[in-house]
Amino acid sequence: DQSDIKSIDSLPVKASFKKRKADLFALKRNSRVWFRASEDNWLLGVVQSKTDAGFGVCSSDGQIFEVGSTKILPANPEILEGVDDLIQLSYLNEPAVLHNLQYRYAQDTIYTKAGPVLIAINPFKKIPIYGPDYVQIYRNERKSILGPHVYMTADSAYKAMIEDEANQSIIISGESGAGKTETAKITMQYLAALGGGRGVENEILQTNPILEAFGNAKTLRNDNSSRFGKLIDIYFDTAGRICGAKIQTYLLEKSRVVQQAQGERSYHVFYQLCAGADPALRARLNLKAASEYRYLNQSECLVIDNINDAEEFQSMLRAMDVVQISKMDQDNAFSMLAAVLWLGNVTFSISDSENHVIVDDNEAIQSAAVLLHCNVKELMAALCTRKIRTRHEVIVQKLSHTQASDSRDALAKAIYASLFDWLVDGINKSLEARKRQTGRSISILDIYGFESFKKNTFEQLCINYANERLQQHFNRHLFKLEQEGYTAEGIDWTRVDFVDNQECLDLIEKRPMGLISLLDEECTFPRATEETLSLKLNKYLNGNSCFKFERGTTFRVRHYAGEVAYETVGIMEKNRDLLHADLLHLLGSSECSLVNSLAERVSNGFRKVNGMQTQKRSVATKFKGQLYKLMQKLEGTSPHFVRCIKPNRFQHANLYNNDLVLQQLRCCGVLEVVRISRSGYPTRYSHHQFAIRLPYFSHASVLWL
Ligand code: ATP
Ligand code: MG
Repeated sequence: DQSDIKSIDSLPVKASFKKRKADLFALKRNSRVWFRASEDNWLLGVVQSKTDAGFGVCSSDGQIFEVGSTKILPANPEILEGVDDLIQLSYLNEPAVLHNLQYRYAQDTIYTKAGPVLIAINPFKKIPIYGPDYVQIYRNERKSILGPHVYMTADSAYKAMIEDEANQSIIISGESGAGKTETAKITMQYLAALGGGRGVENEILQTNPILEAFGNAKTLRNDNSSRFGKLIDIYFDTAGRICGAKIQTYLLEKSRVVQQAQGERSYHVFYQLCAGADPALRARLNLKAASEYRYLNQSECLVIDNINDAEEFQSMLRAMDVVQISKMDQDNAFSMLAAVLWLGNVTFSISDSENHVIVDDNEAIQSAAVLLHCNVKELMAALCTRKIRTRHEVIVQKLSHTQASDSRDALAKAIYASLFDWLVDGINKSLEARKRQTGRSISILDIYGFESFKKNTFEQLCINYANERLQQHFNRHLFKLEQEGYTAEGIDWTRVDFVDNQECLDLIEKRPMGLISLLDEECTFPRATEETLSLKLNKYLNGNSCFKFERGTTFRVRHYAGEVAYETVGIMEKNRDLLHADLLHLLGSSECSLVNSLAERVSNGFRKVNGMQTQKRSVATKFKGQLYKLMQKLEGTSPHFVRCIKPNRFQHANLYNNDLVLQQLRCCGVLEVVRISRSGYPTRYSHHQFAIRLPYFSHASVLWL
């Protein structure tokens, strides 16, 4: 679980040291204070007396405590209870912030501003603050009555897009289960409602059930966890109405197709298909119940509480119709899903004294071959042998049980991942802007948050790398640019330091001596092992203060949000992500055009080296390129940040764990942002902007300004 996230929170202490001393000095008899009665447990109290060692404090239930001066902080006056922007708090210490959020949460007020950032705390229950009536309220400037809301953020983005003629982005971050995807959907609903919500707006909303079916799964943290990152650009026409959209996805977790942790599921769509397909489709796919498929039954979790997979399947089909995915494409896609499931049931038997295997000829392999429209004998051969071409001849090498199982799983993963990409492309074709565009857009980013589990490997490394990049973007906008602006304009200003994560980014992506480059290099050596990789990392990276070689095959990276221990076990296979040429060739020879096009997608990842050999761009390098493009795009927009917070680990309503919330606030730098925003200036316009925004000023007065 997200166990040992330790924040690097030297900043608030340093920046506020003088202020803290002054605050303590100002504490008098009857001052309201927060005091630490035990580790991490803050209580509200009133100062009774000042002693040499500290303070005598009376808690709200009348007990008297002796409190040292390091364990006491001033509390805000009652009048500031539950303010809707943390900036308004007179004292901005951790207990005060936590109390304010909890106070609001207890009244189902889940949104709070932290200066320019919107904090959204997951209620894990339906709260009646969405829908057409609320859209109207937030559209009509009456929002001040209702306070912060994602609708408000969406509205600000929309207005800024129109008024400033600038592209906007809404960047949603947070841990798994914090509510990013729901928040993204609520944002999309608001923007769709602005245009009436019937035409392309509805198509855009209907992409959600499709992508969630194919890209979300039940995990231990979230029953509907997105296993891919997503950026959706929503385009607007000259009348300010939505006229199209484009979706970009990032790094789908393919390993889930063939294996899941106990109690987790594979992608929803498999269970939906098994539960919801009509008799004709069942017969065509030779479909069984989910429990009959090894890829689905191994984790001993087939259903999700309160979710009816058959009904979800029907909604997904309706969504596919709305998004104009043809019936033929839908049918072909379901064939691929069934083929993946049948592949998972393919078994092998030892065929000779050297433990080589052959494929068992049974229903599984026969069904897979039919669904993939390829020759069953060729499929069997491709799964348990490998053709190696030398200069003069072709040698057929037989595979061991492990090798054959790996190649079967690699095939299943490749089919699923390319099917996902194909689907996203199909959706994008449908959503292509139809009307005349203004070229203006609002992009919504819903991307996996920082992860630190007991065991962390390649996926966590990539995810945390993405978070480092996003954090830098956040820092740049909220700290660097703000402060640089003050300095440039000669405004009197005390600098606030922030945790700059450039060193960690260098550690990961610098060439030729960064983590990714070293990993890629090692991946090109056929004899490389986890040990040789560990040695290499240790040798070249040990000088970087964010890197620590642990022992054996573990290394630690100090991320902005905490230190994470990564395992090198399996990291190279995941980075290489190879599909053997024989299997690729087999898919290419299929009589089904979808299978051919999937094969083409897989092989697009390969590139020619020296005109002969083919070598694939590694997964990490491809991801780095995608992130680079993402950041470039975000840099060209005015950002709006939403930080989603998970109040407990159990997906329960009305349960609020202060420590967990604090950990997340620290991880995303919210407290520092508030501190900066509070000491900064709330509004900034260039003279030109100011002049055109205030038409009632006479020409002369603008000149005078
Ligand atoms: P992951 O990183 O695993 O994809 P996430 O941050 O996208 O997680 P969501 O799937 O959006 O998390 O939210 C998890 C669950 O929390 C939802 O399925 C829903 O039950 C609940 N939830 C989130 N936001 C809200 C909300 N605003 N109102 C009601 N319930 C919510
Ligand atoms: Mg999600």
